[in-house]
Amino acid sequence: MRPLVATIDLAALRHNYLHAKACAAGRKAFAVVKANAYGHGAAQVVAALSGVADGFAVACLEEAEIVRSVHPSIRILLLEGCFEAEEYQQASVLNLDLVVQGEAQCAALRHAVVPNPFSVWLKLDSGMHRLGMSASGLRDCFTLLHHHPNVAELNLISHFACADEPDHPLNAQQLAAFVGLEDLPFVARSLANSAAVLSISAAHQDWIRPGIMLYGASPFAERSAAALGLQPVMSLTAALIAIREVPVGESVGYGATWVAQRPSRIGTVSCGYADGYPRHAPSGTSVVIRGQHVPLAGRVSMDMLAVDLTDLPEAKVGDAVELWGRHMLVDDLAQRCGTIGYELLTKVTPRVPRQYR
Ligand SMILES: *Cc1c(COP(=O)(O)O)cnc(C)c1O
Repeated sequence: MRPLVATIDLAALRHNYLHAKACAAGRKAFAVVKANAYGHGAAQVVAALSGVADGFAVACLEEAEIVRSVHPSIRILLLEGCFEAEEYQQASVLNLDLVVQGEAQCAALRHAVVPNPFSVWLKLDSGMHRLGMSASGLRDCFTLLHHHPNVAELNLISHFACADEPDHPLNAQQLAAFVGLEDLPFVARSLANSAAVLSISAAHQDWIRPGIMLYGASPFAERSAAALGLQPVMSLTAALIAIREVPVGESVGYGATWVAQRPSRIGTVSCGYADGYPRHAPSGTSVVIRGQHVPLAGRVSMDMLAVDLTDLPEAKVGDAVELWGRHMLVDDLAQRCGTIGYELLTKVTPRVPRQYR
């Protein structure tokens, strides 16, 4: 078997969920499990949070079906609502909490024929300008849906654009827009993603929506997950599958971009960009072998990458190589590669087996 596995620490996941709840004491939390639970495996993550989670949030009906197959009755929030008229029937059968993010969805919901009325979340565009209605559009929608037979209850939802920058002026503006609808008799309100759970307590409202923090990565560029009280959940671990001596002046890898400046010992690692490791990782990016950081040597290939083992003479073929995890933080790798932990975690490809602990 190819030595590459994404090990998922379910105890760390539960710790992080409970930490999110503790940050917003007394509030409920939709655990966000869209995109295959940020790459961690939705069915397993949902099962592991059974008994602690108040609900789950997903991006589409297909994801909701997976959650519902694990949990016959828990609340599942469809974050973008239905994409087409045919979906309302199935969303109702699955008993989903439904976002209504625009006037067209409001009309489609009113005209749908569904077996059970929905718990509806009217989405306010409080300033991100991606989804949601203006305050006046939302008031009109409220009037149309209030007491409508397809609607069991009306709730309010919105989403921050810059909560990862706690001092950004848009945060206060978005919160003010959200609070500006306080006069409408919503059953519940929800505004906070992970960054807001951790830094904007006024945004906690009734239901928080933690995503990235559940998986032990930080939503902030300048604050580490550990400093936020989070534990890493995924470790991506490969192995050294070959080692060779490379003389001065010889190159390593595609494009011959890395050239030995000293007699070098080069290790080949069983992970490449087709597994989700970023191809554009700059040279100098490290992996961890025997607890020690060693740098990449040359370009990342599809199935393999090379590392410079010259300063780790004890390294042997078969040694475990942590691409990210407890020692090499996914956030640090992401920062080096000009991206965010979210992208690396969600891009671990299906050929990487997930192993649950
Ligand atoms: C993805 C998402 C979240 C979770 O965001 P994190 O930054 O991962 O905590 C919350 N709300 C909505 C609407 C989302 O799309």
